[in-house]
Amino acid sequence: MAVQFACTSCQKLIEVDDELAGQAVTCPYCRAVVTAVAPAGRAAPSESRIAPPASPPAGPSNWFASVGLACSIVMILSTCVATSAMVRVVQKYAPNGQIAPEQMEQVTKDMSQQPGAMAAFAIMLTSAIGGLVFSILGLVKRQGRRWQAAIGLTLCGLMTMCMLLSSIMQFARIGVPS
Ligand SMILES: [Zn+2]
Repeated sequence: MAVQFACTSCQKLIEVDDELAGQAVTCPYCRAVVTAVAPAGRAAPSESRIAPPASPPAGPSNWFASVGLACSIVMILSTCVATSAMVRVVQKYAPNGQIAPEQMEQVTKDMSQQPGAMAAFAIMLTSAIGGLVFSILGLVKRQGRRWQAAIGLTLCGLMTMCMLLSSIMQFARIGVPS
């Protein structure tokens, strides 16, 4: 590294090796003997020239994990919407919350006439399955923010299991002659 400074006699820019910093040197232009002093900030002492540690590079991205987590959040929101719509319909037919099996058909029919509720159910199903797939892909990728995939997998996995169980129970109940 070289030290650059202006000659105090002729003002021309002189460049010397930094070993000569602070020493008297002869100006190559005007032959005046000048002290090699770098302007402030240049040719700092070697110990402070050590570069500050570079900020750690951003970890490799794992967008599968992020999508998996996003899906699980969408799934929770749509589940809330769908559940509240369902609760409203159920309360209409059975204020005590107990639905007789023969009323189930009417409830289902009523629900299917509500576009908002049906959309919420569709979003819930899609995001649960999508969240499950993306979270598994995110975990398999073994890099980036895998904790997002773990949360997504837990939430979507639980929801998918609940939906599967409830549909199995539904079929079992319908199968039992009353
Ligand atoms: Zn000079």
